[in-house]
Amino acid sequence: MLFAATFFLVFVVANENPRLATESQTSPVEPVRPRLSLYCTLSRCSVFQKWAYSPLVPYKDMRVGVIAIQGDFEKHISSIKACGADAVEVRTPEELQTVDRAIIPGGESTTVGMLMQRFGVAEALKTRVADGMPIWGTCMGMIMMAAEIEGRPSQFSLNLLDITVKRNAFGAQVHSFEDAVPLDGLSEPVLGVFIRAPIVTRLGDHVKAIGRYDGKIVAVQQGRCLGTSFHPELTDDIRLHQWFLSL
Ligand code: GLN
Repeated sequence: MLFAATFFLVFVVANENPRLATESQTSPVEPVRPRLSLYCTLSRCSVFQKWAYSPLVPYKDMRVGVIAIQGDFEKHISSIKACGADAVEVRTPEELQTVDRAIIPGGESTTVGMLMQRFGVAEALKTRVADGMPIWGTCMGMIMMAAEIEGRPSQFSLNLLDITVKRNAFGAQVHSFEDAVPLDGLSEPVLGVFIRAPIVTRLGDHVKAIGRYDGKIVAVQQGRCLGTSFHPELTDDIRLHQWFLSL
C-alpha cells in the first residue's frame, strides 16, 4: 500500500513538474502530457497540489529578482531555478515590484552603484527591504549592501547591512582562489569561490558573522539580509540559495 502510494506520488509529481522529472534543472523542458484521468483531475485541484508538492518543492511559489545591471546574474538565476523557485532579471523599480526577494550578484561595485542610482533601483530596493523583503548580496552585492566601505567614504552603497567592508581584501583578480568555508548552520562546508573578494571588518550589533575564512569574516546575516564575500552561484551547491529562500 505504502509502495503504491509512493509510486503514485512520484509519478504524478514528476509528470506535472518537469524540473523534478529531468536531470538538468536549469534547461527549459516541455511539460509532459498527463496520461491518467485521475491524475488529470487531481493535479488541477489546488488542495492536492499543495499537499503533494509542498514538501518536495517548498520554494515553488517564490519569485526572486536578480539585479541584472552588470555581473554574473545569470548564474544566480540558474541556482534559484535549481531550488524550484522562479527567478527573473531585474533592472527597473517596476520589475522589482514583481518579485518577493532580491539578489545582488558579483560584479563591479562602483559601476553598479552608479547605475542602480540612475535607474532608480537603489531607492526601490531600500524601500522594499525596509518593508521586509529578503535580500542577498554576493561579493560586489555584499559591498553594495554595506553601511561603509573602508577607505572609500564617497563610494555609494545601500546601507542595508550594518557592516564595514574592505574591497579586494584577498588581492587582485590573479589572486582569485577556491577553498572550503565552514558556515554556521551547515553541517558540511561550502566551496568558497573568491574573486577580488571583500571581507567584513566591522560588525554592527545586530549582525551575525556566519562564516569565516582564514580568521576573516566572509559571510554575515542581519535579519532577512544575507551577505557573502564569495560566489556560491559559481558552484553546483545550492544550499546557500536554499538558505536564502528560507529567510
Ligand atoms: N572587487 C569587486 C568590487 O569591489 C567585487 C568583485 C566581485 O564581485 N567578484 O566591486
